[in-house]
Amino acid sequence: MCNSDGPQREAHCLYLKHRDMRQKAGQEENIKVNDANYMQEALKEAENAYRSGNFPVGALLVMKHSIIARSGNRERELHDPTAHAEILVIREAGRKLGTHRLPGSIIYTTLEPCPMCTAAMSQARVSKVVYGTRALRWTTTNLFNLVNVEIVQPRLNDGCRQIVQKWCKENGRNIFLDHSLR
Ligand SMILES: [Zn+2]
Repeated sequence: MCNSDGPQREAHCLYLKHRDMRQKAGQEENIKVNDANYMQEALKEAENAYRSGNFPVGALLVMKHSIIARSGNRERELHDPTAHAEILVIREAGRKLGTHRLPGSIIYTTLEPCPMCTAAMSQARVSKVVYGTRALRWTTTNLFNLVNVEIVQPRLNDGCRQIVQKWCKENGRNIFLDHSLR
């Protein structure tokens, strides 16, 4: 259609080209994974955890740009030391999707995952983890490299850190130094 000569044809081809570019940009914008927005949602779960007396960590499990599962930390509430937010979203996503493997999924978590959750993500074949703020008491970045899960460095660092610091202050703990925190 755009092979003919002539200014009208050229103008029409240019119009079509720009229309296609606009459509493509719009589609990409619609499906674009916005890490900061997802982390904001995870932070809401951390706030819920805080309000219910749990250590304030929140997580989401996202697949194909949809939130499949979301949870805060519920260790104290469930009397379960494994009830970290990341573990709970893996369990919920597995139940919903009827599978124990979640390739292509992304976990957004407000705090750098602990070694237990890192191992669970590997077992679940989670593809990527994005975390809010670093936990200096442990560092699992190297562990993620070993287990073949991509790790994305902090997003929304300040908000995710502040709620942990608030909890620590109220509970006389220090996430960055105190081994008994969790
Ligand atoms: Zn954990």
